[in-house]
Amino acid sequence: MPFHDPDCLFCKIAAGEVPADIVYSDDHVVAFRDIQPVADEHILIIPRKHIASLSHLEEGDLDIAGHILSAAGKTAEKAGIAASGYRLVFNTGPDALQSVFHIHGHLIGGQKMGWPPF
Ligand code: IMP
Repeated sequence: MPFHDPDCLFCKIAAGEVPADIVYSDDHVVAFRDIQPVADEHILIIPRKHIASLSHLEEGDLDIAGHILSAAGKTAEKAGIAASGYRLVFNTGPDALQSVFHIHGHLIGGQKMGWPPF
């Protein structure tokens, strides 16, 4: 799979070809607000590299996984929810209702949440 998939919406957002409300970005990841938020704060964190889902991560991609996790804290800080708390959710595959096949962590917060999440 190439680094950039021209048919992938999130690759286009990472490349700046589709507009997004970007909260944080660096050389490895982009974090932008979800267009259909499920919480008061709902941000998607994606790697710049096209990887379809967590199940498609390979050994050579482990640094990318680290960058996503590291960006979560920085993004939460920027959004002002680091202290109040947040969740990072990766919907993966049909049972989890994954609908966009480019890895994205849903950073959700800004309000009190319940558990379990389904
Ligand atoms: P999934 O269902 O876990 O794959 O999550 C995909 C998410 O992408 C959903 O929460 C959508 O609302 C969100 N989404 C789809 N298109 C866009 C967009 O163009 N900008 C921001 N978020 C989007």
